[in-house]
Amino acid sequence: MYRLHSARFLAVWVTALYWVAGAASAQVEGEAVEPLTGLKAEAVERVDSLANLTQEINDSLFSFAELGFQEFETQRYLTEVLRANGFEVVHGVAGIPSAWWASWGEGEPVIALGSDVDGIPRASQVPGLAYREPLVENAPGHGEGHNSGQAVNVTAALAVKALMQRENLPGTLVLWPGIAEELLATKAWFTRDGLFDGVDAVLFTHVGDNLGVSWGPARGTGLVSVEYSFSGVAAHGAGDPWRGRSALDAVELMNVAWNFRREHLHPLQRSHYVIVNGGDQPNVVPSAATVWYFIREITADGIRANFETLQRIAEGAALMTDATMSRRIVGAAWPRHFNEPIAQAVGRNIAAVGLPEWSDDDQQYARALQELLDADEITGLATELTGVQEPPENPVSGGSDDIGDVSWAVPTVTLRYPSNIEGLPGHHWSRAMAMATPIAHKGVTAGAKVLAATILDLIEDPDLVEAAWEYFREEQLQGTVYEPFIGPDDPPAIEKNADTMAQFRDQLREFYYDPSRYDTYLEQLGVEYPQFERP
Ligand SMILES: [Zn+2]
Repeated sequence: MYRLHSARFLAVWVTALYWVAGAASAQVEGEAVEPLTGLKAEAVERVDSLANLTQEINDSLFSFAELGFQEFETQRYLTEVLRANGFEVVHGVAGIPSAWWASWGEGEPVIALGSDVDGIPRASQVPGLAYREPLVENAPGHGEGHNSGQAVNVTAALAVKALMQRENLPGTLVLWPGIAEELLATKAWFTRDGLFDGVDAVLFTHVGDNLGVSWGPARGTGLVSVEYSFSGVAAHGAGDPWRGRSALDAVELMNVAWNFRREHLHPLQRSHYVIVNGGDQPNVVPSAATVWYFIREITADGIRANFETLQRIAEGAALMTDATMSRRIVGAAWPRHFNEPIAQAVGRNIAAVGLPEWSDDDQQYARALQELLDADEITGLATELTGVQEPPENPVSGGSDDIGDVSWAVPTVTLRYPSNIEGLPGHHWSRAMAMATPIAHKGVTAGAKVLAATILDLIEDPDLVEAAWEYFREEQLQGTVYEPFIGPDDPPAIEKNADTMAQFRDQLREFYYDPSRYDTYLEQLGVEYPQFERP
C-alpha cells in the first residue's frame, strides 16, 4: 500500500498533528493548503491568459499524429513557437534528426523541461466522439496523449520567462522533446551524449488522469529493446529445400525457448516480441528474419540478467539452424527514481492549484468512454487530487519510460496532469478520444500552473536545488552505480517508423489543425462535443 497525499488527507493529517501537539487553532484547522503568492500567483494568472496558445499547441500536435523518430512536423511547429519567443534552438541533437533543444536565459539554475511527443501505431481517432472513428484508417494517432505535454511545458516556460525578464532573475530554461518514447529509444542517448551536463533539475511532464508526482523508485519497469537478426540460406521451398537454412526457423526456435523460460523468470518481469521480418513468401526458404524483443524487469540487475539469458537463447537458435545472428539495441530505459525534495515542492503547488473544474459535458463524456471500453469502474473525471505518491512498499511491475536514464543523471521528477480519462486501455485509440477536447485543454492548463510555480520555486530558492542534489547524491546514488544499457557506439534507431509515416503523412496532412481559421480542432472537424451517437 502507498499513501495518497490528497489535499483532504493533508488537512486531516495537519489537524491531527496540531491536536497531538495540543496547539490546535481555528486558523490552522482545514487550512493545510497554502495558496500561491507573489510571483507564483502571477505565473498562474499568466498561464490562464495563455490558454489559447496552450490549446493551439495541444491540438496541433494531436493533428500531426507522428510516430517516434518521425516527429518532423512537431519539431517544425514547436521550434517556430519557441524561436518566436526568443529561445535559441538546435535541431538534430544526439544524431536524431527529429530531436531539438531550446534554451533561453542566462546562468543558474538551469531547469530542463521535457515531455514526449510521439504517437501510437493505428491509434488514429476523431476526438470528441464517444465511438470508434479513425481520422485516417490504420494511421497513427495520439493513443497515449503525448500531444499535450509540450503544451504544458511551453505555456509554463513563457509565463515564467516574462516574470524572469521583468524581475531580472537569473536562470536558464531549457525545453526538450521525448522523441520516440513509445520505443524508449532516445533519452538514454541524450544522457549518454551529455545533453544534461550542467542541468540543475529536470521537470518532466506526462499525461495522466490526475495531478500527481512521486518520489523514490517509481512503479513500473526498465528495459532493453533489442532486435535479433538471423541470416540463413535461400532455396526453393519445394524443389530443393535441403539446400536451404531458414532464418525464420531460428526466430521461431528463439521464441519457443524464451516462452519456456518465462516460467522460471521473476513474476514481475515483462517481455514481449514482434517478428519484424519473417521472410518474403512461403516457397522461398527465408534467408533473413528479424525478431524484436522488449525485456523488462523492475531492477537494472534483473534487466541485465534477463538480457544475458535472451542473448544465449539467440545464440542457441543460431546454432540449431546453422544461421548466423547479429543484434542491435533499439531502445533502453533504466528503472526510474524521482527526487524527493522537488516532488514535495511540486506537491505543494499541486495542492494550491487543484484539479480543473469539469463541466457536465466533460463528466458525461468521460463516463461514456469508460462504459464503451468496459472500464473496471465508471468514475468519470477525477475530483480528488492524487498529489505526492510515496515509493511503493513493494515493487510494482508495468510499463517503462526512458526518463529513467535522465533520472540517474540529474535530479528529476515527472508531473502528471489530468488531460486523459482513467480506466481506458493503454496504447489504444480510445486514449486519443479526449486528447483534443476541453478535458485535455483544462488538464494541460492545470499542469502548466503547477509547473510554472515549481520552476519559480527552483529559481527563487537555491536551497531547494541544493536539497535536490543532496538527496540525489546521499540517498538515490547510495548503493547504485548507473551503467547505461547502451554502449558508447550504439546508434539511435532513427529509421524506425519512416515507412509508416511515408504511407500516411499526405492523408494526415489534410487534417492538420489550422488555428488561423478555427478556434479549436473540434470546430475544424465539425464535432459537436460531446458527440455520443453516430449521426
Ligand atoms: Zn508516455
